Amino acid sequence: MKTIKSVYVNGAFIEPHGTEIVSVISPLNKKEIAQIVYADEQDTIAAIEAAKAALPAYSKSTINERVEYLTKISAEIEKRIDDLINATTLEYGAPGERAKWANLIAATTFSNQAAMLQQYSFSKQVNESIVIMEPVGVAALFTPWNAVAGSIAIKVAAALAAGCTIILKPSEFGSWQAEIIMECIAAAGLPNGVVNMVNGNGAVITKPIMESSEVTKISFTGSTLVGKILAKQAVDTMKRVTLELGGKSANILLEDADFSKAIPMALQAGFMNNGQACIAGTRLLVPESKLNEVKDLLIRESAKFIVGDPSSADVKIGPLASQKQYDRIQQYIQTGISEGAELLTGGLGHPEGLDKGYYVKPTIFINVNNEMTIAGEEIFGPVLSVITYSNEEEAIEIANNSEYGLMAYVSSADENRAANVASQLKAGRVLINTLKHDPMAPFGGYKNSGIGRENGVIGLEEFLEAKTLIR
Ligand code: NAD
Repeated sequence: MKTIKSVYVNGAFIEPHGTEIVSVISPLNKKEIAQIVYADEQDTIAAIEAAKAALPAYSKSTINERVEYLTKISAEIEKRIDDLINATTLEYGAPGERAKWANLIAATTFSNQAAMLQQYSFSKQVNESIVIMEPVGVAALFTPWNAVAGSIAIKVAAALAAGCTIILKPSEFGSWQAEIIMECIAAAGLPNGVVNMVNGNGAVITKPIMESSEVTKISFTGSTLVGKILAKQAVDTMKRVTLELGGKSANILLEDADFSKAIPMALQAGFMNNGQACIAGTRLLVPESKLNEVKDLLIRESAKFIVGDPSSADVKIGPLASQKQYDRIQQYIQTGISEGAELLTGGLGHPEGLDKGYYVKPTIFINVNNEMTIAGEEIFGPVLSVITYSNEEEAIEIANNSEYGLMAYVSSADENRAANVASQLKAGRVLINTLKHDPMAPFGGYKNSGIGRENGVIGLEEFLEAKTLIR
């Protein structure tokens, strides 16, 4: 049985001080595929000490040195891409194409950061002053299980580029994938203590980090619930905070949109990553007058989203990641039915013949109003709610009537009209007639979707402090 490495401190994978052994269960068949020994508080304290000791030298490293490290990590991830795809399928249930995309993006995140770093000026003239951008210090990075490689990469790359040292706390529910990424980082030859990893129970590992005044920055991606707990704790030692949290994104189809393109895209947006995506477009806003056309297209096009073993080439939706996720999604589907929404496709239970893993039926509800639980809460599974509107103003109002504000989608034949709608949406990103990703542009959310942004210059500056020199 494979044992996953959970502690990397001061330049080496070490035996954890923690003793709790936890099974890693594959969502494909509920079988144990590995074990992990959880790191504990003492392992975390060792990681903090190592990061603190490495900071004085690393914070003074040259841009060229940092560029070299980032470039090497990118190359190491590319070398290990097959291992990463395999782990992402077995541990998480991602279909092959998705697994490949999600891991290659981790490699390009490091190379993009290297390219950006070469252009960035850490010292600039502002009015009569010189402003120097300094590394914020020891950074603790927390990442979720639904996008393991990408979330680790986006944070580690920016923190390293800034000159920070790192305690990485990946999700304990994506520990195999995290181990491989950590091995790639280790292979890049960074000085000891610059990147450390402790994996295990979130609350246990978080405690010494939040209490330590040596840790001056936290960057957290995960649920809004946990993000708020950490943000409140952070204030006691005045840690700088970046939060990338949940979403309930609206997808507005304007009546002039080409529905034959917009509906397949809407399904892709709703069901991406097996429905477990913070940016999923789970509220589909359609003009009342177009509902029948939309229903027909949704039924026809959703049949193409084949659910099954993610290693099959034609499968678009794999199993959910865990029993907890399966139960959660069943509960939300039941709530939708109980509150009066109407099932267009899908529903409760496993798809036929797929009861050995955590497979669910991709589900589309119609007759949803924005006040229902399924329209308000982040479900985090392949469940799409269709909400009708009577005019553009109402569509914008419904889209913004959410506690979240991470992503939004707009489809229209007229890009200027769509851009005008986009300008009124409270969301960190708005995609117009596309599902494209731009890894160099800011990413993050309004409202309960978080604080701060990742990617590009803004993402780098989340790990920097500005110091003004006036002579
Ligand atoms: P989570 O909040 O449960 O866990 C995130 C991290 O926090 C993990 O490392 C975990 O170990 C740790 N943690 C969990 N409970 C903790 C506690 N009580 N105290 C301290 N630390 C704790 O989130 P998740 O279930 O891993 O991820 C899913 C969530 O992440 C969804 O809400 C999703 O929308 C969000 N997400 C957001 C983005 C984004 O960029 N905005 C990207 C991916 C996922």
